[in-house]
Amino acid sequence: MEENKQKRETKGIDTSIVYDFKEFPDEISGRCDNCGNTLFKSSVKDFVFLRECRECGMKKSI
Ligand SMILES: [Zn+2]
Repeated sequence: MEENKQKRETKGIDTSIVYDFKEFPDEISGRCDNCGNTLFKSSVKDFVFLRECRECGMKKSI
């Protein structure tokens, strides 16, 4: 997989992993830890609420 389009500066967080919100709460509430974006798309998978950053794709289960 090649993904080298970096529009924003990110912290290099692995976006292929789903992070647990309890273990990794937002550094700034409502903002992506990786790129600081505030727009997310949400989905529900296996009864778990997933929040995915629209910019970098970082995922958290909430
Ligand atoms: Zn992000």
